[in-house]
Amino acid sequence: MDEAAVPLAVRVEQFVQKLRSPEVLCGNESLHELSTAFMNCQLLPPMAPSEYLEWLKREVLDKEVAIDSPMMMGHMTNTLPDYMPEMGKLVTALNLNLVKTETGKATTFLEREALALLHREVFQKEEQFYEEHMQSRTSCLGTMTSGGTTANIQALWMARNRAFPEVEQRGLVGAMKGWAGAVVLASELAHYSLAKAMRLLGLGSESLIRIPTDETFRVDVKAMEEEIHRCQAAHLKVLAVVGLAGATETGSVDDLEALAALAERFDVHFHVDAAWGGGLLFGHEAQWSPNVAGLFRGVRRAHTVSVDGHKLLCTPMGAGTLLIRDPCDPGLITNSARYIIREDSFDQGRFTLEGSRPAMAIYLHMNLRCLGREGLALRVQKSCELARRFWELLSDGSFEGIAEPSTNIVLYRYIPQYLRGCEPSVLKAHGKALDEFQISLQAAQSLAGRSFVSRTSVRAPRYGASLVCLRAVFGNMAITEASLVETLREQEVLAQQIEGLDKAPGTDGPTSPSTTTGPASETDTSSEFIVTS
Ligand SMILES: *Cc1c(COP(=O)(O)O)cnc(C)c1O
Repeated sequence: MDEAAVPLAVRVEQFVQKLRSPEVLCGNESLHELSTAFMNCQLLPPMAPSEYLEWLKREVLDKEVAIDSPMMMGHMTNTLPDYMPEMGKLVTALNLNLVKTETGKATTFLEREALALLHREVFQKEEQFYEEHMQSRTSCLGTMTSGGTTANIQALWMARNRAFPEVEQRGLVGAMKGWAGAVVLASELAHYSLAKAMRLLGLGSESLIRIPTDETFRVDVKAMEEEIHRCQAAHLKVLAVVGLAGATETGSVDDLEALAALAERFDVHFHVDAAWGGGLLFGHEAQWSPNVAGLFRGVRRAHTVSVDGHKLLCTPMGAGTLLIRDPCDPGLITNSARYIIREDSFDQGRFTLEGSRPAMAIYLHMNLRCLGREGLALRVQKSCELARRFWELLSDGSFEGIAEPSTNIVLYRYIPQYLRGCEPSVLKAHGKALDEFQISLQAAQSLAGRSFVSRTSVRAPRYGASLVCLRAVFGNMAITEASLVETLREQEVLAQQIEGLDKAPGTDGPTSPSTTTGPASETDTSSEFIVTS
């Protein structure tokens, strides 16, 4: 039968099934090859959708990343529940716009309910509080955003409004009179979106002050306190203290209780970035993980908390949330226009950074209802257990774990043969060669396309220096015990090839991996494989 005659829906379904099959490999075209394959910038006469689909499959989908494959353990993308693709069709077909009730009437209230459900998990207010605020026109328990980035921007925007009440009307120059500047304090592991927020707010990335972390990658609260004193002496207004609850690179959770106390003492906005870690809240009380239980103590005292739906809450991309403790927070963003989001309306657009927004709330609400606390807890339990198991597998000699994982992200390095069993001081002396080795290995692995871990560089307490590390993230529910073993084995094989390549003729010592061709030359062009999201 002619392929083009198969109904579009059936073909799409076939492609999706194929993309999700366990044996599917990522395309191994280089990024350079791909960049030259999309060079048509002239609109051609329209083609039939079925024809387009065939083209899309051949030229794009077959070369795409197989994000759900069991050996993909470097992304923060979580496996979607089975029902999600169908729900995606529904949401697309409805094409609602939640900026205002005129284009998303009942769904506006569903969105507010979803936000209240999450708010309650985080802030644990009384029943009566929710009765009063969840559907009150003048209350805002939070907003849905396109992701953690926009949630963080909105949080720091609110912190700025709180610190300088006139800033929304007068701008920074008019509102900051008497101050030499305004700063936000966060861990050195803070997500780059916080610096983006500072740049956007006109405060500059240098005004995000990054505080060192301790040996468990938690921010040093004492150092943060000293920094606040230093800022005050220098007439720098402290806008906010940020706690990380699930650092993007390490999965570590800051001491939120201590940070809350600090923020309260200095009367500054306390924001918790739980874009990644928010889902761990659902495993909070669980028996299974004494190391996760209690990590979030203190989160209730935050003014604002970012939680991404599209990370551990398993929604499709584009479903962030900013949860706001006080529904009438003085820092609230308030928008209005003559034709929509009028002040006396129920329009959610009054409180959001975004304008038009899709009904992502349906995905979030559905997961909260259909997976529920139990289902979400099971998933985060599995992800933390996989991380733990992976950590144990690292102890076989070829690898070095960087710090025991407190949640579901593991940092590690491959140690080439000639450095096995060496003292930390020796490894430190070979730091540059080790860094380059990890870069080559990770590039070779992503180019091969069979498996994936990401890479980053962090200051490792044990070495007191910044190291390039491999980074395994466990949100993909297709990962199994066997695929953990298999992924490490594949890395060993690739690493041995690199080590072999490295042996300069006539010597038995390795030369710098940067002199190799092949995988290492991919490095510069594959920067998106560094920390993803
Ligand atoms: C992923 C992440 C973000 C950014 O979220 P996006 O949804 O990618 O915009 C912010 N903070 C942390 C800690 C994250 O892990």
